[in-house]
Amino acid sequence: MAAAMHAPIISSYNNGRIRPLLDCVDKLRALNVMQEGIQLPTIVVVGDQSSGKSSVLESLAGISLPRGQGMSTRVPLIMRLKNQPDPESPPEIHLEFNGKIVPTDEAGIEDAIISATDEVAGCGKGISHTPLTLLVKKCGVPDLTMVDLPGITRVPVKGQPHDIYEQIRDIIMEHITSEESIILNVLSATVDFPTCESIRMSQAVDPTGKRTLAVVTKADIAPQGLLEKVTADEVRIGLGYVCVSNRIGSESSQDERNREAELFDTHPLLSKIDKSMVSIPVLADKLVSIQENIISKCLPDIVKKIQDKLAANLEELNALPKTIASVGEGFAALIRILNSTKRSLTKLLLTGDFGEYPEDTEMHIIAKLMEMLNRGTAFLKSENIENEDEISDLEMGLPGFLPHRAFLYTLQKRLNRASPVLLKLVGDLWAYIETGVINVLSLHCENHPQIQSGATRAVESIIAKKKEESARWVTEIIGMEKLGIYTCKNNPQGMDLATAFDAKTGMAAYWEIVRTRLVDGLVLHILFKCQKLVEEEMEEEVVKDLTAPPSGGGGIERMLEESSLVAEERERLSKRVELLQESQDVVAKIIGRIVPGDD
Ligand code: GDP
Ligand code: MG
Repeated sequence: MAAAMHAPIISSYNNGRIRPLLDCVDKLRALNVMQEGIQLPTIVVVGDQSSGKSSVLESLAGISLPRGQGMSTRVPLIMRLKNQPDPESPPEIHLEFNGKIVPTDEAGIEDAIISATDEVAGCGKGISHTPLTLLVKKCGVPDLTMVDLPGITRVPVKGQPHDIYEQIRDIIMEHITSEESIILNVLSATVDFPTCESIRMSQAVDPTGKRTLAVVTKADIAPQGLLEKVTADEVRIGLGYVCVSNRIGSESSQDERNREAELFDTHPLLSKIDKSMVSIPVLADKLVSIQENIISKCLPDIVKKIQDKLAANLEELNALPKTIASVGEGFAALIRILNSTKRSLTKLLLTGDFGEYPEDTEMHIIAKLMEMLNRGTAFLKSENIENEDEISDLEMGLPGFLPHRAFLYTLQKRLNRASPVLLKLVGDLWAYIETGVINVLSLHCENHPQIQSGATRAVESIIAKKKEESARWVTEIIGMEKLGIYTCKNNPQGMDLATAFDAKTGMAAYWEIVRTRLVDGLVLHILFKCQKLVEEEMEEEVVKDLTAPPSGGGGIERMLEESSLVAEERERLSKRVELLQESQDVVAKIIGRIVPGDD
């Protein structure tokens, strides 16, 4: 087990500047602001299996992590290293996962991580996207937060899911794709870099390598040709290479540092590598400064994104239907809805003013009604409604009937044929009006979905009554026409149409008078009924429905209950707003410290 470090591995970092910024980013990460699509600057550790990722993290933190054979890193491990300025204070180590904080100590870390991994990802060899957070606060560690990811493995071993490669690739891609991520690519000196899977992945998202730093492990095992490999830079690593030699067996951190320093000082091949490219302390130093740069660069943008998202969510929240707190408020809302519906309907149904809905031809109700009327009444024209027998009846007279009796008889037969046509027409007209009225009313109670069904029901019930009234009216007017021949129009000499000229022409002329009467009457009848409906009945019926006791199906009290969909949406938005507000508070505390060009 590693003993506590006695001295910082290097003193140039931990200058205190980075800590508040890093704390801010860590707090945002803990708040899970990333779920809002806000990327945080993060150092992500990637590497092929057994390349030495965990060992590098151990060396940086001076602690022991699960490592070695098999895949021990099965979930992302967020490692937060925090320098503890007072060497006398004991180290503070804990694991956070699933909303829990599990305190541990240096000796217990490995077991704590293993059991937390089992809890998060199951006991088998499966992997999970849910991260663990390991906080290591002790004297001498660099102020760094890094995410360790499962090592890439091409071939599943016994017990691993068959698509383990794809699963791991997905986790890695999720972490390294964002431009805010720094990719710490761990490469073993024992392998050919261009063949590394981790190189392929990082090149896919960072082709120029501008945010990729390479750590070459196992310099002690494979010193041959290492200098050439890191100077040739075949794999385009923009942030440079650092060669290291990690802890071997159970040596202490201090022993590890001394041995590594001696190795790079004295080894005939390794000593030729520039000192700015070797050792864990150099790596720590580089990481701290890269981290400081990326955080300073990203924070202003993060602040802006938080503000924008907060504003957008608040706007969405405010646009949700208003909650109604009392029956009185419910009535007020209902009166508003009815008044505005009445205004719209008067325009659409009575005056033919479509100004409110210029684009929506569905709303041009009266135009459509007139079209239906024209089509329906055209059918009543003589040529459509006359039939063969009536001509002969008229021309020859019916046996035993006087000529005007034959005329009346023919008229009545025509009226009998016209009656179902008119009945069907009024039915169609009311059906169309019903749809129009319900559309308009629904639009006006959009914000109160709870009363829509009641309002619709009320309209349906009035229209059913209107249909009956109109059917009665048709029967009545047809009955009146059947009574006999009367017109005050165009009949100056009191001419008897039945005998004046030939009976067929007389019938045609008289039928035109009847038809005009029927059509004009029908239009006036419908408009009159519509006016009553809009001006009085709709309001009465809707109020009646909504003030009926709830058990009766209505109930203005319903307006007080929020629909579950709206309630869910409100809950979801409120949570996001809360998260973003907390995030905003977090950044507000430090934003004053980010002065451009502070370096
Ligand atoms: P990971 O799978 O990438 O996390 O790799 P590990 O950190 O578990 O390392 C795999 C093996 O390589 C372990 O047995 C380590 O002890 C060993 N190892 C890692 N780094 C070095 C190093 O720099 N030198 C030597 N000699 N062995 C190392
Ligand atoms: Mg590992």
